Amino acid sequence: MLIDLDKCTGCGACVVACHAENNVPVQTEREITRLRAMHWIRIERYWKGAYPDIQARFLPVQCQQCGNAPCEPVCPVWATNHSPTENLNLQIYNRCVGTRYCQNNDPYKVRFFNFFDPTFEESLTNQLNPDVTVRTAGIMEKCTFCVQRIRSAEHAAKLEDRALREGDVVTACAQACPSGAITFGNVKDRGSRIVRTSGDQRGYHVLEEINVRPAVTYLAKVLHSTEA
Ligand code: SF4
Repeated sequence: MLIDLDKCTGCGACVVACHAENNVPVQTEREITRLRAMHWIRIERYWKGAYPDIQARFLPVQCQQCGNAPCEPVCPVWATNHSPTENLNLQIYNRCVGTRYCQNNDPYKVRFFNFFDPTFEESLTNQLNPDVTVRTAGIMEKCTFCVQRIRSAEHAAKLEDRALREGDVVTACAQACPSGAITFGNVKDRGSRIVRTSGDQRGYHVLEEINVRPAVTYLAKVLHSTEA
């Protein structure tokens, strides 16, 4: 995944789309004040400068699907483990016993624990995505790169007896982003847009110094001399 911070306006459409696609419950004010907010993708907001010459900076953050994920080796039951073929950091809900070791070892803080069974407004239950499990109390959950969409595209391609093509899989956040800041693609396809763009000199990984090899590349915001 590639996120161009020069295009991100911090609108939050990706957050809402992720909630809708992945049946992520909206926490109550009481839970949020107890530090139990739950968003599989969140918009980190930073301020640059001092009032009145102040500017906002935004950084969408979700599971970085690390190639060397620190959350994986600490799980005592292998509920979180690695898909070597897709380089996805998997979360097996019905194996999770809720120790939360993975959450403690997650440098990006993108894993969320279900303290209670989620509740959804009666008027919204028909909106739940039938392709995605509603997670119960006592387990850990996080961004999957919309793995249900990946599987659906794989099945469609298989029926047509062809390989996955560029654009077959679009994550909910990428689909909803009005400015096209998020790109999702296959890094093994050397001609794909994501491979061509991730070589941009603005590209970097968040916390790359801790060697977790994240699969999300950010493109730095372009600053004009008066903004630097
Ligand atoms: S939808 Fe796009 S522009 Fe809006 S916050 Fe998310 S990444 Fe940024």
